[in-house]
Amino acid sequence: MIVFSLREEVANFVKNQRKSKKSIGFVATMGALHRGHLSLIDIAKQQNDIVICSIFVNPLQFNNKNDFDKYPHTLEADLKLLDAEKCDVIFTPSTDEIYNYPDPTVFNFGQLDKVMEGVYRPGHFEGMAKVVKRLFDIVQPDTAYFGEKDYQQLAIIRKFSSDLHIPLTIIGCPIVRESDGLAMSSRNMLLSHEQRKLAPQIFETLKETKEKVSRTSPSELKKWVAQQINKIEGFELEYFEIANASTLETIDNWYEKTIAMGFIVVRVGTVRLIDNIVLLS
Ligand code: AMP
Repeated sequence: MIVFSLREEVANFVKNQRKSKKSIGFVATMGALHRGHLSLIDIAKQQNDIVICSIFVNPLQFNNKNDFDKYPHTLEADLKLLDAEKCDVIFTPSTDEIYNYPDPTVFNFGQLDKVMEGVYRPGHFEGMAKVVKRLFDIVQPDTAYFGEKDYQQLAIIRKFSSDLHIPLTIIGCPIVRESDGLAMSSRNMLLSHEQRKLAPQIFETLKETKEKVSRTSPSELKKWVAQQINKIEGFELEYFEIANASTLETIDNWYEKTIAMGFIVVRVGTVRLIDNIVLLS
């Protein structure tokens, strides 16, 4: 496994691999790796000759300074996990390597950032897209892998990559869960023992929501989810939205012929937990 921190090093490495016609798969992360991240590496390894994983905690992506300060940093453990996973290259750029870079791109996410995370985390997607676009420019992968856990992020990355004609394929990968159903997240380690014990109720609620679709209207379902979540000690529903899987537009009735998904964010103290489920397909 090779670790690079300079963009020229990665760019040169990729250029050389391309000469021997090797395909390049890419996984972008903010570190504090868990099995969810490793599943992306695994899928990338199955589909490519070389897999590159970046670790960069992007300050622009955090609209809340406290969230940024508390975000876990576990580089040494991350490198061990990636080595065990046989990831070929790790790119750990400094903030300067990423931001000190002329890029006049103006993003337009259409309606995709006008809902959910776009409303609750102003500036988050702009910050995310800037960095992901720069990472794409530096790494120039054939294929990049992103988790469906951050579904809105995945939709936005698909859109700007296509709008900007970036020559790569974006693959969405399924959510990896703990054995009790909680979606894996670097933020789970910030939960107290008590909070962690209660957290699987989020996915339990989502699964029940799916069962209720045939006999409950979207607005009643939203009310029910709010009641279920807010009655868990110390848990507060930030939002539960029912939206079209492609456009992310709100679904008000089940007659719309689209894939309907439920998107949830729950605040547990200072920790924000995100999850989603396909309700109707
Ligand atoms: P992050 O380090 O949180 O920016 O995540 C890096 C990538 O891993 C993103 O594409 C995430 O969507 C993905 N990811 C994070 N958690 C999971 C999970 N539990 N299952 C699948 N993918 C995940």
